[in-house]
Amino acid sequence: MVKNADFANKLLGWYDQHGRADLPWRQHITPYRVWISEIMLQQTQVNTVLPYFKRFEERFPDIYTLAHAPLDGVLHLWTGLGYYARARNLHKTANIVCTEFAGKLPEDPEQLQQLPGIGRSTAGAICAIAHDQPRAILDGNVKRVLSRHYAIEGWPGQSTIQKQLWQISEAITPESRCADYTQAIMDLGATLCTRSKPNCTACPVQPSCQSYSNDAVNQYPTRKPKKILPTRKTFFLVMADDRGHILLQKRPPVGIWGGLWSFPECENQSEIQEVCAQLDVTPLDTLDTSNQKNQPTTNDYQYGDEQRHTFSHYHLDYTPIYLSVTLKSQIAGQQMTWVAADCPGKLGLPRPVEKMLSDMCLNNLFDSINKNANTAN
Ligand code: SF4
Repeated sequence: MVKNADFANKLLGWYDQHGRADLPWRQHITPYRVWISEIMLQQTQVNTVLPYFKRFEERFPDIYTLAHAPLDGVLHLWTGLGYYARARNLHKTANIVCTEFAGKLPEDPEQLQQLPGIGRSTAGAICAIAHDQPRAILDGNVKRVLSRHYAIEGWPGQSTIQKQLWQISEAITPESRCADYTQAIMDLGATLCTRSKPNCTACPVQPSCQSYSNDAVNQYPTRKPKKILPTRKTFFLVMADDRGHILLQKRPPVGIWGGLWSFPECENQSEIQEVCAQLDVTPLDTLDTSNQKNQPTTNDYQYGDEQRHTFSHYHLDYTPIYLSVTLKSQIAGQQMTWVAADCPGKLGLPRPVEKMLSDMCLNNLFDSINKNANTAN
């Protein structure tokens, strides 16, 4: 292993010239801004985060504004960024910090880790960047840099490998210029020691990089063992009223897309009538006049193409079923809403729902369904 100071000094020298000092969260550094940016950057690229960070801090410039905002407003600004538990945890943590810590994020990493959504690496990053404390971090970029530089065998997600990487990260974190060092190692991973095609010739720590000297950079970090993801199938019931407004249902607060607004679902077509009854709506489209009960038959429904959304642990294959409906009575409660497809308002929406709503064909489709329904009536 290189001497700790060598690694840090070389990295800092490079950072002074090539670091991404212009990133918005690196201007006017505060614990709040560092926290928000670190949470957004988890599993997400900088370029994706930039517009989200800008909108988020314009809407929630401080922790009190965030704590007092409705969760829907927070989820709305998170729409499309994925991993929505991050947004729910930001909101929860903001409330805890305002009520228990007088609006100030703790400076102690152990205390920070007690807060929802803040793990060891995020706590380390907040303490190092916002308070210049000598705290190690181990995010995805740092794992890759260290795995390559020290030629660590084994998938970094494995607990023994992770433990080894933490030990290295702690050993090479300097006592001074910790904020700069932390940002420097993040930048190295994001700009030179990238996942594919690392730019080793420009790398400040190349002389001591073990995988480079062994001509084995591409072998590190060891890839995650391949796992076949299970598939779940569902139908999205895309229901429009006579104005063309679409019915959305709020999902339970925990679990996949927790607290977001989505289409009602059913697992097979035979449940459609049941779901409609629960929602107190009557389907109108393509009435089957030969049917004694004057109800649509399953074959009459208008289906969209099956599509796939992949979560980290399973594929969701969803097929839209388009229905024109009327309300039997006013739907009560906070768990359902009708939205205009082209302007759904300030709601948190999963990406597939947002995409389907923004598809202009949807309106045309409902025009045609409504015409059919009117003719049938
Ligand atoms: S030399 Fe290449 S592999 Fe080694 S740390 Fe630098 S960029 Fe990464």
